[in-house]
Amino acid sequence: MKDLMIYASRRSMLAGAAMFVIAGPVIGAVDRYAMSPWRRIGDDEWRRRLPAPSFRVLRQQDTELPFSSPLNKEHRAGTFVCLGCDLPLFKSQWKYDSGTGWPSFYTAFNDALGKKADFALGYERTEYHCARCLGHQGHVFDDGPKPTGLRYCNNGVAIRFLAA
Ligand SMILES: [Zn+2]
Repeated sequence: MKDLMIYASRRSMLAGAAMFVIAGPVIGAVDRYAMSPWRRIGDDEWRRRLPAPSFRVLRQQDTELPFSSPLNKEHRAGTFVCLGCDLPLFKSQWKYDSGTGWPSFYTAFNDALGKKADFALGYERTEYHCARCLGHQGHVFDDGPKPTGLRYCNNGVAIRFLAA
């Protein structure tokens, strides 16, 4: 019995060590913009660069009023980029009318968004942000259309549309 416990604890130690070894390179690979100059811009500089409503959303995680964004009615072909750093986030063909009053997309460019749990409203939502400048974009929900079933609910003031 004693031998068995020693064996079990040694095994969990080894498992922990293995996870630690794996975690390092994976995190490094995901955060490809860790050394980006966009990460070194401070709040004062962002405040100068951005319109006030965009600053409040991108840098302070504010949410714009629903049905306030002209981008709700943007249906031309093109790309939606981060207003902070111009990283392409969404293609126009991924946009759909969710009826929520915010520009909505069912998918995003690979590795363009970082995500984290957000409990600000007292329950868990998944916040997402520009992977490069870390500017807050919106929240992603699982009530979207096919093929992903996802709804990226984006603040219009956090993105800019570039016609193709
Ligand atoms: Zn950005």
